[in-house]
Amino acid sequence: MPNADPAEFLAYRVAVYARLHAYETAATTDNDAYAAQLARTELPRHLRHWLPRLQAHEPDKHGNCPTCSHWWRKVAAPCDLWRWFHGFLTVEPAHFDVPSIT
Ligand SMILES: [Zn+2]
Repeated sequence: MPNADPAEFLAYRVAVYARLHAYETAATTDNDAYAAQLARTELPRHLRHWLPRLQAHEPDKHGNCPTCSHWWRKVAAPCDLWRWFHGFLTVEPAHFDVPSIT
């Protein structure tokens, strides 16, 4: 568990924010080669991560999310993951303010 040890969690946070800072730099730099290189490196990672997650939340034949639903409560599609991802990709304005943790 990454947050069980505060030092380990700090290392996770530093790594994540460093990656986000790289995105921020790519988004704001005039160096198109850097931005393209980062996009070619990072976009496949995002696709590998997100596609299986979205597919796991595709509605079943009853229109419910099989991942978010439980025997005691069904969750109709689109579930929270789909709503969040739709907002992430299409609705929310592109804004970033990556905190510095180092
Ligand atoms: Zn779901």
